[in-house]
Amino acid sequence: MISDQKMNLEKIADGVRLILEGIGEDPARLRIVETPRRVAEMYSEICGGIHEDAASEIKVIPAETHDEIVMVKNIAIASICEHHLIPFTGVAHIAYIPKDGRIVGLSKLARIADIYARRPQVQERLTTQIAELLYQGELKPKGVMVVIEAVHLCMVMRGIKKHGATTITSAVRGVFRKDERTRIEAMLFLSGNRS
Ligand code: ZN
Repeated sequence: MISDQKMNLEKIADGVRLILEGIGEDPARLRIVETPRRVAEMYSEICGGIHEDAASEIKVIPAETHDEIVMVKNIAIASICEHHLIPFTGVAHIAYIPKDGRIVGLSKLARIADIYARRPQVQERLTTQIAELLYQGELKPKGVMVVIEAVHLCMVMRGIKKHGATTITSAVRGVFRKDERTRIEAMLFLSGNRS
C-alpha cells in the first residue's frame, strides 16, 4: 500500500473495510477486495486540501491601475459534506475589486477554491473561507464577493431526497457589502446580464 506522510491510508482502508462489514457486505469478496485500498487513495486525493496552504497561492501581481470588478465565474468545485461524508458539487463565482492595481493570477482563484473544497466541509464555511482569504490576505482588495451554487448528494440520496435542489451561499466583504450599486453590478455579472 502506498503510504503518504500526512495521510494514513492503512487507517482509511481499515475504516472502509468496517463500513463494508457493517452494511453486511463481505470485504473479502473478490470484486471488492481491493476497494478499501482504492477508497483510501481516493480520500487522500479528495481530502488532500487539508494539508495544502491556500494562502501561499496568493501571489500579488502589480498591474496597470484597474479598479473595476474582476470576476471568475463557474469554477467547478467538488467537496465532501462533513456531516455525511458524501460529495457536494457545483460552481463558485469569485469577484473582487483590486486596490492600488494589485491583482492575482486568475487561475489562483480557482486553485484557492479547490484547496478549500478538498476537505470535509460545509458549503457556508467553504464560501466564507475563500472570501476571507482574499479579503484579509496578501491581495488586500477593495471588496470580495463569493457565491457558490451546489447540489448536495446527502439531500439527493437520503432523507428528504430532494433531487435538483440547489443550495446557494454568498460571502460579501468590503465595498461589495457597503455599496449597494457595486453589489448589484456584481450580481448582474453573475446572471450574465451586464447592462
Ligand atoms: Zn450532508
